[in-house]
Amino acid sequence: MNLYGRVAVVTGGGRGIGRAVSLRLVALGVKVIVNYVNRPEPALETVALIEATGGVARALQFDVANSEAVHAAMQEVVTSEGRLDILVNNAGITRDGLLMKMKEDDWDAVLDTNLKGAFNCVKAVSRVMMKQRSGRIVNISSVIGYAGNAGQVNYASAKAGLIGLTKSVARELASRGITVNAVAPGYIETEMTSGLSPELTAKIMAEIPLARLGSPDDVAAAVAYLVSEEASYVTGQCLHVNGGMYM
Ligand code: NDP
Repeated sequence: MNLYGRVAVVTGGGRGIGRAVSLRLVALGVKVIVNYVNRPEPALETVALIEATGGVARALQFDVANSEAVHAAMQEVVTSEGRLDILVNNAGITRDGLLMKMKEDDWDAVLDTNLKGAFNCVKAVSRVMMKQRSGRIVNISSVIGYAGNAGQVNYASAKAGLIGLTKSVARELASRGITVNAVAPGYIETEMTSGLSPELTAKIMAEIPLARLGSPDDVAAAVAYLVSEEASYVTGQCLHVNGGMYM
């Protein structure tokens, strides 16, 4: 695989799965725009890690939930880079709680970031990708979007919604040579899952046939495949990366 000269935006690319995706794309020759919202340090650290490997990257702050900020950021990327080939919608948050206790704000925040954020980014890049008559979009969904989870009605709804978004946009953009796919990770060791109790981790492990939590690199490998030339006939699909916990 060689994607030399391509330009990618990875939302939430500064840490966790986003960092692994950014590093993986750079290893394939891609120039990566590492997006973050609140924490510049991990994003700048990711850029430094990339530069240490001889790759090219830069950090870019914007809130995926803010459509104006997203459009301005994507416009800036296209103006300064001259192209935009790959979008990975990875930014995501959780605000867990049982339905009966979930605050409207927690619902809104998760839907705004995890689902509307992807809509904003896809909309903002679609024009340039259509003009280029090529492009790759990968949305990071979740096993929770398929299986559901008590205490995550907001997150599960957003992640399930991303699958509908993926399939619909795949149909709309296919004639312009743009593929749109999703990756649904299982439990991956990042900051997002670091707060799980040992009891809950043991319970989750018992449900994973491959008997380990996933790593960010497991997810990055799936993204790398979906943005490759080899995946040019794959669109509207979701690749499950979950150790077999959901089949
Ligand atoms: P982390 O919590 O480690 O990182 C989340 C990233 O998203 C951060 O870079 C954060 O930026 C960014 N982000 C959050 N909100 C926004 C926003 N409004 N605009 C721009 N960026 C934002 O998460 P993970 O790496 O664990 O998860 C990455 C994705 O994978 C998420 O979509 C998550 O739902 C999904 N996923 C994760 C799983 C897991 O087990 N970890 C399992 C299944 C799916 P900043 O650093 O500035 O805060």
